[in-house]
Amino acid sequence: MNLFTKQGGFIVIKDNLDHVYQNIYAACDNAGRCRKDVSLIAVSKTKPVSMLMEAYDYGCRVFGENKVQELLDKYEVMPKDIKWHMIGHLQRNKVKYIVDKVALIHSVDSLKLAEEISREAVKKQVEVSILIEVNIAGEDTKFGVTANDTEKLVREAALLPGISIKGLMTIAPLTMNPEDNRQYFAKLKQLSVDINQKNIDNVNMNVLSMGMTGDYMIAIEEGASYVRVGTGIFGDRQYPVK
Ligand SMILES: *Cc1c(COP(=O)(O)O)cnc(C)c1O
Repeated sequence: MNLFTKQGGFIVIKDNLDHVYQNIYAACDNAGRCRKDVSLIAVSKTKPVSMLMEAYDYGCRVFGENKVQELLDKYEVMPKDIKWHMIGHLQRNKVKYIVDKVALIHSVDSLKLAEEISREAVKKQVEVSILIEVNIAGEDTKFGVTANDTEKLVREAALLPGISIKGLMTIAPLTMNPEDNRQYFAKLKQLSVDINQKNIDNVNMNVLSMGMTGDYMIAIEEGASYVRVGTGIFGDRQYPVK
């Protein structure tokens, strides 16, 4: 992929962002939530730097990527006031490249991965914020711990130095009808409330990363604090044919 080639041509990122922000505000208002309690992550995977810069120039400072190399390439050339979020499955051998460059890792789904992040964080003397990824709908195809195993992983990871657990993340099922996912968002919220009530040291469950282009309004109504929107900002993604 050439990061500097413009794709898509007709996508007007400014207009898309306006639209997404209006939806976010409407969902907050519907749910009686404070607008400042919901943040947008612009999911820029597969998109060229030129498109990210359009979003940046329009005010976006939080970008989500799902591949380590792509995140690093973009990190290198883009302004330093951007907060990069790692939202994709993370292999342990790549942790060392990103611990000091990302604001939040959304996809911690095993103790082994948490331990590796901890080790690298201590080595680089940084504190890394993480979310525990929960496979809330129990889909075979998804990464993430089950709802049942979440508290155990939170308790174990909370003992590790150099990492700070901020909350939970989920990727809801792909569906034509976003209402179908309301139950899963509500379930993730309840899980975070239940764990918060246990008052575990070094654990704060205030962040809920849930909702994508198809269902972020529902996710906000059910308590999302970060929504991860890609297609709704940058248009469809084209993946190279393998
Ligand atoms: C790609 C991706 C998104 C964005 O999906 P859209 O449907 O394009 O908004 C959100 N979260 C994760 C983890 C992703 O990989």
